[in-house]
Amino acid sequence: MDEIYERLRRRLDELATGFPATKSGVELKLLKKLFSPEDAEMFLQLGLLPETAREVALRTGGDETAVASRLESMAGKGLLFRQRGPHGPAYHIVPFIVGIYEFQVNSLTPELLKDVSEYYLSGLGQTFHSTRTPHLRTIPINSGLVSSLPIAPYDDAVAIVERKDRIAVAQCFCRKAVRMYGKGCDHSLETCLQFDSYADYYVDNGMARPLSRDEAVSILTRNEKEGLVIQVLNSRNIEAMCSCCSCCCGMLVALKLFPAQFRDPKSSYVCVSDALSCRGCGSCAGRCPVGASKIKDGKSVLREEKCIGCGLCVTSCPEQARSLVKKSPDRLYTPPESLFEAYADMSAERSKREGIDP
Ligand code: SF4
Ligand code: SF4
Repeated sequence: MDEIYERLRRRLDELATGFPATKSGVELKLLKKLFSPEDAEMFLQLGLLPETAREVALRTGGDETAVASRLESMAGKGLLFRQRGPHGPAYHIVPFIVGIYEFQVNSLTPELLKDVSEYYLSGLGQTFHSTRTPHLRTIPINSGLVSSLPIAPYDDAVAIVERKDRIAVAQCFCRKAVRMYGKGCDHSLETCLQFDSYADYYVDNGMARPLSRDEAVSILTRNEKEGLVIQVLNSRNIEAMCSCCSCCCGMLVALKLFPAQFRDPKSSYVCVSDALSCRGCGSCAGRCPVGASKIKDGKSVLREEKCIGCGLCVTSCPEQARSLVKKSPDRLYTPPESLFEAYADMSAERSKREGIDP
């Protein structure tokens, strides 16, 4: 029976964020917890492009009713992504992170967390953070914080929300996980916005509730006041928007360890500080999620190489001594159009480095 889980592991390892083998075999233990052997067989027959149950049945020679039932059950368990289409629901596979793991937001258990933590430290974390193409990008809440215009439409959180027709809000996976350990912070839990097909999937699975645009902007504004960093999935067509704290978000914690070139694509902006206006109140240092602001000799000191351009210090500076400026063209990163393309870029990077065929 282990053979099917090893094949599933290898398939997941081919996807953007990887699923490497470890000495302990904790990754197989994890897969057995989440997938039945029948689920694993179905996952292996699917691709990254959405297909209806009828298309899968025709392609694989399966019974359409049985295939539809298996696909729906797997989508309900967060093992596949499901989107609404003109011919009914369509399904496709997703990486373990960001994807299957985050889709367990309603079924997290201490045992699952323990296994994922062990796996993250013994292999998954290294693979996940090994690509220069980022999973998430940091954006400011709105263009008012940026002194060098124009700002790209995918770089303004409020403008993104105001263009969306379908919006939902879910609980923050990271904060929920850390609280399960009996740790964490007092930040709001219902903070993460989903859009379009992500909103449909989260709402249909009971993982989020639908919101109007005004409600979504209110949540974003509250999140910003709480000092949460806005991070979006890496694409120009934004499908999910997290509001992260540096105590619970694995991405923000890991950022403090990354070399600068891995941080650059995280944001189009970097903060600048006007020393003449600064009166050394320390608000910026208290708000900065990555330790890029410090107070020295009664003035703020900015470590630009650490800054992720979130703008949290800009909105809280009482002297308007802080602003965001666009990075120089050689440091600017244009996100791919879709998450699908971002995943393809990550897979290509990993294949090149590991010397395997994409
Ligand atoms: S918040 Fe503004 S005034 Fe206060 S230390 Fe920072 S830059 Fe200076
Ligand atoms: S200095 Fe810190 S708080 Fe200010 S924009 Fe940069 S990362 Fe954000």
